[in-house]
Amino acid sequence: MARKKIIAGNWKMNMTPSQAVELVNTLKPLVVNDEVDVVFCVPAIDLVPVMEATKGTNIQVGAENMYFENKGAYTGEIAPAMLTDIGVKYVIIGHSERREYFAETDETVNKKVLKAFEYGLTPIICCGETLTQREQGITLDWIRQQIKIAFQNVTAEQAASAVIAYEPIWAIGTGKVATTEQAQEVCGAIRACIAEVYDEATAAAIRIQYGGSVSAASAPELFAQPDIDGGLVGGASLKPDFGKIVNYNK
Ligand code: PGA
Repeated sequence: MARKKIIAGNWKMNMTPSQAVELVNTLKPLVVNDEVDVVFCVPAIDLVPVMEATKGTNIQVGAENMYFENKGAYTGEIAPAMLTDIGVKYVIIGHSERREYFAETDETVNKKVLKAFEYGLTPIICCGETLTQREQGITLDWIRQQIKIAFQNVTAEQAASAVIAYEPIWAIGTGKVATTEQAQEVCGAIRACIAEVYDEATAAAIRIQYGGSVSAASAPELFAQPDIDGGLVGGASLKPDFGKIVNYNK
């Protein structure tokens, strides 16, 4: 069965709740495309108004992070049940900005991934190499290690439903998009890694996105690659251009 493309916006720390509703209303008519899953991943405080504003549309809503405990004395954190209670379906886990600025590690990513599945949330699991790692020629080894740890104790059935976002750190927010060959090479290696850890069926089912300066111009070629099943889009997800990215195939 062909994998359905999944194109997700990552708003990062942008948009106040009122700006968020305005942006949803602007983008709503532009992101209609039955052939792809469309997800808006938004700041925690925007989740409730964005859930409301996207009702009756094809837009699904995701969080940008959550904690790996059920509840309790973790001041400032968001619990998985808080997300599911309002109907959130997706959660980004282990974005490189969380790893760099908020001390997330492969191990905490794994805990969050397991917790997301426990609550029926679909994790969008991020991985990616630095420019130094790419120059050292260790990209594929690094990514394989990130994936193997992220999926520890995850069942094949859960893995098949997961989304992986390959985001080279040097391409995020820099305007320096990876070449289609670079992006396909790593996404293909990720799928091979999933086949090795699980089996061919799981590898064939899991969806792998590319992220890092995706634009309306680069999306069609990237998303046409055999192992790239859509994108995780930062900057361009805040603009009407996101409609063009979602409709890359039209
Ligand atoms: P960018 O961000 O599209 O602005 O490069 C992508 C991301 O960090 O998810």
